[in-house]
Amino acid sequence: MDFDSRSPVVVLAGGTGGAKLARGMADVAGDDLVVIANTGDDVELYGAYVAPDPDLVSFHLADRIDPRGWGLDGDTFHVMEGLKELGVDVWFNLGDRDLAYGIRRAELLAQGTRLTDAIAELTQALGLGARVLPMADEPVRTAIRSGGTWVPFQEFMVRHRAALPIEDVRYDGAADATLSPEIAQALQSARAIIVGPSNPVISIGPILAVPGLAAALRDAPAPVVAVSPIVKGQVVKGPTEPFLDWAGVTFDAAGIVSFYADLLDGLVADETLPADSTLPSHTTDTMMSDPEAAKRVASETLAFAEGLA
Ligand code: GDP
Repeated sequence: MDFDSRSPVVVLAGGTGGAKLARGMADVAGDDLVVIANTGDDVELYGAYVAPDPDLVSFHLADRIDPRGWGLDGDTFHVMEGLKELGVDVWFNLGDRDLAYGIRRAELLAQGTRLTDAIAELTQALGLGARVLPMADEPVRTAIRSGGTWVPFQEFMVRHRAALPIEDVRYDGAADATLSPEIAQALQSARAIIVGPSNPVISIGPILAVPGLAAALRDAPAPVVAVSPIVKGQVVKGPTEPFLDWAGVTFDAAGIVSFYADLLDGLVADETLPADSTLPSHTTDTMMSDPEAAKRVASETLAFAEGLA
């Protein structure tokens, strides 16, 4: 199949791993990059609409991510200090300018703007040519059942530091979400679709739970390739291991393949697949510790995917 060189390269992403790959892919695909970002982590707090994964991706793409790994570089925390002075339980920390993004987004949504357009306004303000599309305009919220109680995602991650036992996972609102025209168009016209190295259950799972999205991946003419979020048999950050365990797949490249099942045409990982696996794979160092490494991983992944077309 021939693809126009200007057809999009689509990356599905959560926060950390997916965002780093997206940054590397921007060096390779430029403004043809379209990121589909998880909004299952979104939370309304302090009068703001906080969208951690779309913002992490956007801040990475703008080279504005703070070295701490989240938020805007060099941000201050005066508002959080002020809220604490007022006795507010500041369990979720946000920098001042980071909060400004959330306040502006809440304002746009209150005016009836779609989340897709609200995020587009913010990414344009950051000077991005690449697009960051929320997985849906409707609210979808990930929740984890622990000790028989459903815990909202950010409370699980931030208040409980992801240390609670995982009994079940659900994506509230997913059944009522719809495939946005921007995502449908990007997937249909893509030259490659990359599932970023993000947590399959809590970062990519919500995206795939949007009705029609997994089918659109299957129907897309472009090859679909995942980059494994497991590096040297370990996790770089976050609770990927307990969530894969909950999903009943092994914590290795074969487990990632079985989680995504028939969605994939190929896998990029730093380990080989079992000899009986028929899925094409590309083995390389997938650790993206700096922009050069992210660019190399993105470039190898795109070349591998295009070779499968
Ligand atoms: P979160 O939303 O911040 O939890 O982030 P993600 O779900 O996007 O990312 C968590 C996953 O990213 C973990 O499984 C990490 O091992 C993986 N990850 C982080 N950095 C890298 C990297 O440089 N290379 C690869 N292959 N995976 C990474």
